[in-house]
Amino acid sequence: MYWMDMNPEEIADAVGALGVPNFRIRQVQEWLIRGVRPKDMTNLPKTLREQLDAIPFGGATIYQKRVSPKDGTVKYLFELEDGNLVEGVLMRYSYGNTVCLSTQVGCNMGCKFCASTLEGCVRSLRPGEMLSFLAEIERDEPQVDGKKRTVTNIVLMGSGEPLDNYDNVVTFLKRVTSEQGPNISARNISLSTCGIVPKIYRLIEDAPHVTLSISLHAHSDETRSELMPINRAYPIEQLLEAAKAYVDRTGRRVVFEYALIGGKNDSEADANALANRLKGMLCHVNLIPLNPVKERGLDGVTRAYAYQFQKWLNDRRISATVRREMGADIEGACGQLRRRVLNEIRG
Ligand code: SAH
Repeated sequence: MYWMDMNPEEIADAVGALGVPNFRIRQVQEWLIRGVRPKDMTNLPKTLREQLDAIPFGGATIYQKRVSPKDGTVKYLFELEDGNLVEGVLMRYSYGNTVCLSTQVGCNMGCKFCASTLEGCVRSLRPGEMLSFLAEIERDEPQVDGKKRTVTNIVLMGSGEPLDNYDNVVTFLKRVTSEQGPNISARNISLSTCGIVPKIYRLIEDAPHVTLSISLHAHSDETRSELMPINRAYPIEQLLEAAKAYVDRTGRRVVFEYALIGGKNDSEADANALANRLKGMLCHVNLIPLNPVKERGLDGVTRAYAYQFQKWLNDRRISATVRREMGADIEGACGQLRRRVLNEIRG
């Protein structure tokens, strides 16, 4: 067991076992909520800090940080205690700051346009590691304007497939929304999945207030299976049924991500077919001009073209917007920064 993975009761048990008074237990709990390591728990006696250090912390440290001069987006590369590197991003919007967190080191899903999956999944992240990313970012970029916290919104859209790390992700969601934890509203959290259908049904029950984003990227099974191997297990019709179940259960719209890939899924006929698929569903389409990954050989589209595709959808009464481009100048896309740094380290 790691400190960062423990809930308040588990912390109480672990600290209580050291025979210290209750107020010390509360102090340790407060520090851990803020992701602070035992050695930095400044109001504890040194002997207690050393005793606490006998249990591994299980968090992350900032290995590298890049700030976009263009929009202030901060891209972090975190180092885990086993030496693995994983990305996170802080994006500044008018309504608050959003962090994009990873759920796995690498990914097993094999999507043809994505850099995160090029070498498979190294391992899944534990809840405490994901909580630690948040705490490290909060500490690194302190709140401004007297606001209580830096981060108001979370998107699980970094590397990894969150539903392929289901239990840890659901535990993370419970902890991060808890009043005894960071207390971030579930409504301000989005989870993005490539479409592991049975897990979507489970998520609807376990975390109904979280916004569901589905990476759709194609309107036909032929193209989707070519781009996303998961589609062979759970084709579009089953996926859209799960999306409808989410809408029915939560009354909230489902978000579909659609990466525009030049010559693959970006024609007016594609927009038309997509609109027909989604007709009548409470949903929103988030268009992303593909961020071409060198190793992948797929083309993006211009932003102007993405707006044209948006208009085709809007004309067909489908709500759609083009995702704001954040940190494109600092390798903001999935898995790109980690890859570049790993390539540098490996020479
Ligand atoms: N595994 C999850 C979440 C991670 S990726 C999922 O599949 O949804 C977050 C989003 O970025 C997904 O929609 C993913 O398909 C998309 N994405 C991955 N690589 C991309 C690239 N090179 N350009 C644009 N979008 C990309």
